[in-house]
Amino acid sequence: MSTVRPMVRAILALGSNLGERQGTLHSAVAELVDLPEVRLQNVSPVVTTKPVGGPAGQPDFLNMVIAIDTRLSPEELLAHCQAVELAHHRIREVRWAARTLDVDIISYGDVHSDDPVLTLPHPRAAERAFVLYPWSLMDPNATLEGQSVADLAASAADMPGITHAQDIAAVQKAAPFSE
Ligand code: AMP
Repeated sequence: MSTVRPMVRAILALGSNLGERQGTLHSAVAELVDLPEVRLQNVSPVVTTKPVGGPAGQPDFLNMVIAIDTRLSPEELLAHCQAVELAHHRIREVRWAARTLDVDIISYGDVHSDDPVLTLPHPRAAERAFVLYPWSLMDPNATLEGQSVADLAASAADMPGITHAQDIAAVQKAAPFSE
């Protein structure tokens, strides 16, 4: 008898700073939820953010987060996220010669892991406004490790680097929710 794994709520963060950034994020969300084991539950507005670290002169990032319910294990979800990343890198590599899409697992249920291959919750999420701020717009009551995501966003060092946030109503209307 096969057992069906229960759905687990996970938060994914997406970022793009090269190429057709908005289009990349939209197709990445559609690809991430295009599995029977993944169900889109919520999407954040897309925010425009100044790059944190890295070489000078980089274009601004577009960042967003999504909430999914999934039957994939954490390892399966990471592999799925990396496959979506890779597909975009492959498509864009010739034209842009750089990465165009990052997908991180911010949290997976209450799972904690110190494994460097998959650290949960994501070790730097609590200090990154480009994750916390869109997450707080999507869900003003969200918490991370018992702390208010909105409060964490407000005190994050990169908060002043957020220059624009999309209207959440328009975003949620266009989101590829299943059913
Ligand atoms: P990056 O290039 O910054 O996206 O980092 C990718 C690497 O981080 C991969 O080798 C992953 O195995 C590892 N990693 C560890 N924890 C996570 C996480 N929570 N989400 C995504 N990647 C992770």
